[in-house]
Amino acid sequence: MNQYVSDLDKGKALHFLFIKAESKTPGGLLARPVLTSYYKSEQFRKRPFDPYNVLTSPNAAILCPDSFQSMYTQMLCGLIMRHEVLRVGAVFASGLLRAIRFLQLNWDQLVHDIQTGTLNPKVTDPSIRECMSKILKPDPELATFIKTECSGENWERIIVRIWPNTKYLDVIVTGAMAQYIPTLDYYSGGLPKPCTMYASSECFFGLNLKPMSEPSDVSYTILPNMGYFEFLPHDDDSPVTLSRDSPPRLLDLADVELGKFYELIITTYSGLCRYRVGDILQVTGFHNSDPEFRFVRRKNVLLSIDSDKTDEAELQKAIENASELLKEFNTSVVEYTSFADTKSIPGHYVIYWELFMKDSSHSPTSEVLNKCCLAMEESLNSVYRQGRVADNSIGPLEIRVVKNGTFEELMDYAISRGASINQYKVPRCVNFAPIMELLDSRVVSSHFSPAAPHWTPERRI
Ligand code: AMP
Repeated sequence: MNQYVSDLDKGKALHFLFIKAESKTPGGLLARPVLTSYYKSEQFRKRPFDPYNVLTSPNAAILCPDSFQSMYTQMLCGLIMRHEVLRVGAVFASGLLRAIRFLQLNWDQLVHDIQTGTLNPKVTDPSIRECMSKILKPDPELATFIKTECSGENWERIIVRIWPNTKYLDVIVTGAMAQYIPTLDYYSGGLPKPCTMYASSECFFGLNLKPMSEPSDVSYTILPNMGYFEFLPHDDDSPVTLSRDSPPRLLDLADVELGKFYELIITTYSGLCRYRVGDILQVTGFHNSDPEFRFVRRKNVLLSIDSDKTDEAELQKAIENASELLKEFNTSVVEYTSFADTKSIPGHYVIYWELFMKDSSHSPTSEVLNKCCLAMEESLNSVYRQGRVADNSIGPLEIRVVKNGTFEELMDYAISRGASINQYKVPRCVNFAPIMELLDSRVVSSHFSPAAPHWTPERRI
């Protein structure tokens, strides 16, 4: 990045970094996301001083497993060092927006701490308290400034108002994260959003060699030494199924063709063999002879707010489980679709339901429909539930009950735009504005999950 942005060694990065809970595989192996491994490693904890990578967040805050205490401390340090901050970020765009939301909810307590030089008693982690005792001093002038900025209604450009020397946002905004770009632009006054890397817990994939390009033009160049990369030609109309009897032809990195779509397959040093990552990529060019790829999308992911990825089968199962609660009311779900609502922070899943009630005098109560929301959440995977319970990165699931006949109208609309009646399928996820408007104008009631679903870090995966 220092080839594109000057003086990055003259200040710090306010980077919201978190660890996640670990679990064990049935065979007893430790399982955790790659960044948790990295932050807990000696390479990170005892890293040598690098003027280009000085963080405002102390290690104690990053390594605190309690997401509130960790976020609170990282935000407090960012505010205290506001003039030194040159870039603001998180791994994904959703994480940065969560930090802004956190500031909206907690600025008065943060102001109090800065005013008095004392740390919020809710932060109990001893190593955080010890390191903050060296950083936190009463600063009434800063406290007044933060209060003035945060108490107003208008949060437009809040990032550059509080951190005026910010040169860019350090977040990934490609793939599912593109949905957050307008909100990031609103809070940052349109600061550049370079996407530097494309990676996963299983393997590091590539770098963006033109980091200042617009999010829609971002391509990643594969680092060929990070694993063995193979490519399964991808065509939405004729999906390939892998079987032992007729293995499809995989292409090597050197053999992919410009403009074509592929599913990424990796063989890693740690032992994954021909593992399907689940990402669809398109070749956009070459760096020397190394292909560059645009991240197109995750395969089969319908809904995603943060690191959660919910596919059609999981959503279907969740709907089935929740509709069990409707049986005693002689009611069933005739149609459904879904939407990842990221207008509020944290974002949440919205499920549109059209119900069929055999006996309208005995219809499901609002309380039962709230319980259906929770039943759906209980059925979703552990990454979703962890986001709800431990990370607070996902808000309570919402069911919007729509008027009878709404899904027929949806079909009429699709047909009016050229869909074939024979082949029309109800979209299980929607994000096209006119369709959303149609659905929202037919909502008769809306219900939210009344509690957090069950999730424990010890849960075996
Ligand atoms: P995880 O399994 O949590 O390590 O996440 C890895 C997945 O996140 C990848 O397989 C991609 O689907 C997604 N991802 C990682 N980096 C990027 C990126 N730069 N742009 C879009 N999606 C990304």
